[in-house]
Amino acid sequence: MSDTLKDDKIHIWHPFTQAKTAPEPIAIKSANGIYLTTEDDKQIVDYISSWWVNIHGHCHPYICDAIYNQSKNLEQVIFAGFTHKPATELSKKLTSVLPDKLNKVFFSDNGSTAVEVGIKMAYQYHINLGAKKTKILTFDGAYHGDTFGAMSAGKSSKFFDNWQDLLFDVEVVPYPHTFINDTDVDNKEQSALNELDNILNNNKDDICAIILEPLVQGAGGMRMVRPSFVKQVCEKVKNAGGLVIFDEVMTGFGRTGTMFASEQSFTPDIICLSKGLTAGFMAMSVTVCSDEIYDAFLDDSFDKSFIHGHSFTANPLGCAAAIASLEVFENEKVMDKISNIENIHKETGIRILSGCKTLTNIRIQGTIIAMDVNIDDTGYKSSIGDRLKKYFWENGALIRPLGNVIYLLPPYVISEEQLTDAYNIIVEAVNEIVGD
Ligand SMILES: *Cc1c(COP(=O)(O)O)cnc(C)c1O
Repeated sequence: MSDTLKDDKIHIWHPFTQAKTAPEPIAIKSANGIYLTTEDDKQIVDYISSWWVNIHGHCHPYICDAIYNQSKNLEQVIFAGFTHKPATELSKKLTSVLPDKLNKVFFSDNGSTAVEVGIKMAYQYHINLGAKKTKILTFDGAYHGDTFGAMSAGKSSKFFDNWQDLLFDVEVVPYPHTFINDTDVDNKEQSALNELDNILNNNKDDICAIILEPLVQGAGGMRMVRPSFVKQVCEKVKNAGGLVIFDEVMTGFGRTGTMFASEQSFTPDIICLSKGLTAGFMAMSVTVCSDEIYDAFLDDSFDKSFIHGHSFTANPLGCAAAIASLEVFENEKVMDKISNIENIHKETGIRILSGCKTLTNIRIQGTIIAMDVNIDDTGYKSSIGDRLKKYFWENGALIRPLGNVIYLLPPYVISEEQLTDAYNIIVEAVNEIVGD
C-alpha cells in the first residue's frame, strides 16, 4: 500500500462513502485535459468532469495562470465594507451572460450555500415587503445540497432520512421526468400541473417560492423534463405571488446546451450557480437576483438588510478563475463544442446504447446523456451501481452511476472518439454484469 493510501486510511473521512465496505480510494497525482493520472501511472478518462465541475478539462493553463497571477496581488480580503476588481469584473461579465433581469451578485463558496442564500433571500424578501409567506415548493426527487436548508428543499430525495425531524416543511410537486420515445409524457405533466394547482389553491397568499433544478435533476438520477413544463410551473407560481429560484449549480455554464438552462425555459428571480463557475479550480458560488429583490432590502433599518456572509465571500482567486473560465468560453468557441457533443450523443450514443436491451429510458439534454439499467433493484442505493463503477474504473473510465442510472457529463474538450469509447464501455459493462 502506498504512503498516500496508508495515511488516507488513518486520517481521512471521505464523502458519500461507507469506509468499511468501499474499495480503497484511487490516489491521483496529476490531471490534464480529460485525463487523470494515478500514482502508479495509469490513466483514467474523466467522463463526469470530477463531480460536474471541470467543464474545460483539468489544469487548463489559461486558468492556472490567472489564479497564479491573482495570488501575487491580492489573495483575499474581507468583503464587508471592501470590494475589489476581480469581484466587480466577474459580476459584470457574469450578468452580461445571464438573462437581463438577473443583476445583483451575492457571493458564497459552494452550491449548498448558494441555495441557502437563495432561500433566505426569498423568505426575507416577502417579510421586508410586509407579507410573511411560509411555503417553499420543491420537486419530488430534487437535490439541492447537504446543508439544512438545502436538505429541506431536497427532503424527498431519500438522502436525508437521518435528519428528517430537523428539516423544515416543504410542499413537494410531482416531477414528470421523461426520456426519448416517452408516450406518457403529456399525461404525467398534466397530473403534476394539477397537483401544483391544488398546492397553490390550498396555500393562497402563503406561497414564498419554488426552488428547482431546471430541465435536469442531477443527483436525483439525471432526470429530465421538457422546457415547456418548467415554464408552465414557473408561471403558475409567479401568478400565485411566489418567487422562482433556479438551482443551476449543475446545469449552469453550458451543461444543458445553452449557457444556462433558464434560456430554454424561464427567467427566474434568483439563480444559484457553483460547480462550473470556476471551471473546477476554486470553491466558489454565487446567488444572483433581480434588482426588484435587491431593492426590497434597502431601508434605513439594519434589520431589513441581508444578514448573511461567509469568510471567503468573493475570494479574489475564485473570481480570477471564474473570469478566466468565461474568457475560455469566448476564446475557444466552447458553445460550438457543446452542440457538437450533443450531436454525438444523439447519433452515435443512441445507436450504440440502444443496441443493449438492458439499457432503457435513454435521455439527452445538451452534453448530458443518461439511461437506466433495467433491473428490479433501483434507486441511488442500488447495488448495481457499485459493481458497474468498479468495472468502469478498472477499465480506465471515471463513470460513477447514481444507483442504476448511468450517465456521462463530460468536460467540453472531449473528442468524438473518447465519447464513443464511453458508449462502448457502458454496453460492455452492462452485458458483463447484468446480461443483455
Ligand atoms: C452539487 C449540487 C448542489 C450542492 O453543491 P455543493 O457544492 O456540493 O454544496 C446543489 N444543487 C445542485 C443542483 C447540485 O448539483
